Amino acid sequence: MDDYTDAEIRSMKAAILHAPGAIAKRPLIIGEIPTPQVTPGHVLLRVRACGVCRTDLHIAAGELPARRHPLIPGHQIVGEIVDGATAELPAGTRVGVSWMGGVDGTCPYCRRGMENLCDSPTFTGYTVDGGFAEFALARADFVFPLPGSIDDLHAAPLLCAGIIGFRSLRVAGVEHGDRVGLFGFGASAHLAIAVLRAWGCDVYVSTRGVSHRALAASLGAAWVGPETERPPVDLDRAITFAPSGDVVVAALASLRKGGVVAINAIHLDRIPAFDYDRLLWGERQIRSVTNMTRADARDFLETAREIGLQPKATPFSLDQANEALLAIAHDSIDGAAVIVPGG
Ligand SMILES: [Zn+2]
Ligand SMILES: [Zn+2]
Repeated sequence: MDDYTDAEIRSMKAAILHAPGAIAKRPLIIGEIPTPQVTPGHVLLRVRACGVCRTDLHIAAGELPARRHPLIPGHQIVGEIVDGATAELPAGTRVGVSWMGGVDGTCPYCRRGMENLCDSPTFTGYTVDGGFAEFALARADFVFPLPGSIDDLHAAPLLCAGIIGFRSLRVAGVEHGDRVGLFGFGASAHLAIAVLRAWGCDVYVSTRGVSHRALAASLGAAWVGPETERPPVDLDRAITFAPSGDVVVAALASLRKGGVVAINAIHLDRIPAFDYDRLLWGERQIRSVTNMTRADARDFLETAREIGLQPKATPFSLDQANEALLAIAHDSIDGAAVIVPGG
């Protein structure tokens, strides 16, 4: 903690959600609050960067039920340990924190190795304060050392967009050489495509927005088209990223027999009625992707290091936290939005 004066440690700047509201009405209030005190089993991090995820929009807009207020959102934290250090996690270690902030370790799901489905989970930036702040508290057993080859701005989007995108590929059962459709091309998809290309898959991208299609093409998509257009081949797997049931049906209509759609969305408007005989018969499957395990995080971060994954990221200061939410809401940036408190 030597770099900070006592006054700097005692209080911190944060983007706080007092009550959910429309994103256009700028629901986050930037203010000065006491810095959290380290508690047993936790580490205090100085936040170096925190990615913005679509889930943050759903929380800020009240589309997910409020769990606590006031709340500091943000669950893709790159931070440096400043208090609560241990032998394994010495002071100064750069670590990442993701959406899963902790599990009970005792429920039937945890005991089956399915901690992503834990009955009593802690969610960073939802059930506990997150990283849209200068400091954040995290459970010591839910932080991940980060590859040194990736800087703070570019490491942040790996921590939810990247990990959940990677888990989506697993849930969809992607095998090397598969034909894979990505429906939507935001922060998560633009990382998933790099993994898919490394696995020798042909990737078909349906997305709105000319710049998203251009980015997909530049990252090696075999085909790009508007969100309503069907890829020119039958897909082995499809992953949907938009919070839209229409997109799920479009993805289903693009599958071969036995194919899988994995829905990477924590919130969906609704799934419209669809024709069972034509769209689901033939052992096609629809699966949701729910949270992540620590193994997903470690495996993905190792893959990211191996393939030299470089997310596209746009920095925002803490004062611009509402603008960062708006950028995601309007799909107005390519890749990820990242809040950099020191920026
Ligand atoms: Zn997220
Ligand atoms: Zn559990």
